[in-house]
Amino acid sequence: MSNPDIATLDDILKSSRRPFSAEERRFIEDAFAFALKAHEGQNRKSGEPYVTHSIAVTKILAEIGMDKETLAAGLLHDVPEDTEHTLAEVGKRFGSEVESLVDGITKLGRIKLRGSHEEYFLENLRKMFLAMAADIRVVIIKLADRLHNMRTLDALPPEKQQRIARETMEIYAQIANRLGISEIKGELEDLSFKYLDPEHYEEMRQIEETYVREGKTYLERVIKLLRKELGGDGIKIVDIDGRTKHLYRLFRKLQKHDMEIGRVYDLVAVRIIVPEIVDCYETLGAIHKRYRPLVGRIKDYISLPKPNGYQSLHTTVFGPEGRIFELQIRTPKMHDEAEYGIAAHWVYTEKERGGWRSFVFGRKPTPAAKPKEVAWVAQLKEWQKEVGRDDAEFLSGLKIEFFKNHIFAFTPKGDIIELPEEATPIDFAYAIHTEVGEHAVGAKIDGKMSSLDSVIKNGQVVEILVAKDRKKPNADWLRFVKTSTAKSKIRRTIREEEEKEKEKK
Ligand code: MN
Repeated sequence: MSNPDIATLDDILKSSRRPFSAEERRFIEDAFAFALKAHEGQNRKSGEPYVTHSIAVTKILAEIGMDKETLAAGLLHDVPEDTEHTLAEVGKRFGSEVESLVDGITKLGRIKLRGSHEEYFLENLRKMFLAMAADIRVVIIKLADRLHNMRTLDALPPEKQQRIARETMEIYAQIANRLGISEIKGELEDLSFKYLDPEHYEEMRQIEETYVREGKTYLERVIKLLRKELGGDGIKIVDIDGRTKHLYRLFRKLQKHDMEIGRVYDLVAVRIIVPEIVDCYETLGAIHKRYRPLVGRIKDYISLPKPNGYQSLHTTVFGPEGRIFELQIRTPKMHDEAEYGIAAHWVYTEKERGGWRSFVFGRKPTPAAKPKEVAWVAQLKEWQKEVGRDDAEFLSGLKIEFFKNHIFAFTPKGDIIELPEEATPIDFAYAIHTEVGEHAVGAKIDGKMSSLDSVIKNGQVVEILVAKDRKKPNADWLRFVKTSTAKSKIRRTIREEEEKEKEKK
């Protein structure tokens, strides 16, 4: 491949944050060759060979440190849907793990464009949740896939650009945020912003050009000075640099401050990386000794991490030349987790414990639960909180209800049943089928006999016991059922029974 714009296998391996053994490299190489051949002769809308997309997606996955199976699945993610080669072939050659990842991606892609935007939104999001339940890596591949599609969105007609950009902002950037992959989240937001609100995007770009560029030269001077000062205090610095704010985040912040640029102090910020947690506090002290902090802007996200697991010390100080700027202090591990979120955390725990244990930020999975499910449930809860808190603008009415208060329960066969919080086995039974609801006589929750009015918790397995002979729904059930489906069905059956009784008389 001679086109310099086309990433090669070597690019992928070079950009990987994770070292690969010779054997692992051969595995990825094999997937690379397979993808190249499978997509041979196909072109993207932009005119480039199709496989450039698969390769670019995989490069993104390598950059955030994903494993060899995920990279192979990235290379092969469009093979079953868009080429002659089947999923089974992929499985045969690359194993069941890659097969199930590719299958997950293919299924996520099959969302029918029908009904209203809201209906589409809900179906899309539901599918993402389901994919997370199965394997979080599927969702990470999907995010990389979407990121590359957004980078190349110019090739599509304007109408499609709008739809895809909106969906990216509403769903994919949100999920990237929940998973803590801020690198991907920031870029997804900026790319969507560009298409959804080109005027403000341009405005932000100009602000960036004037203020940020100027701010950067200031920071360069500050960083030099800080190196000297902190070094003099005997603090070991792993890294110190300046970071700029993503354009969309800048826009949101400016909106909050009546578009007054002078009130945004973290347009540029200094980031200091030190070896250990204790060094973080020592650095903070050393800085406050010289530069007076602004009241109310010291934040200890180390002892009190953000809901998505983010950790760092933040402070805003009156710096040299009388200028105000923000500082972020963290360890290398915190830094990786801030940038790569769940992907980084996964690499660290694998390194530390040699497995999937403790996959969730700061939480130990219960012994019975599979780590992947626990991670999903935890993230889902965070997502629900977020939706309830500040994303209400776009998640109006039903959407909020729908997501904020929902849980997922499982049938003994592993099918997922979606229910409102505090739903009971009767709700669960009606959600499976009206017949099951009407014949329900008992329930087992996680294998234990439970009453029909028990509250089902997220992730529990529910088995409904039914009587063979037809059993009338009990009017008492109306006191505790939570779903409108169950309520209306119970009412209807009771009404029908009453009418039958009247006819008899
Ligand atoms: Mn794709």
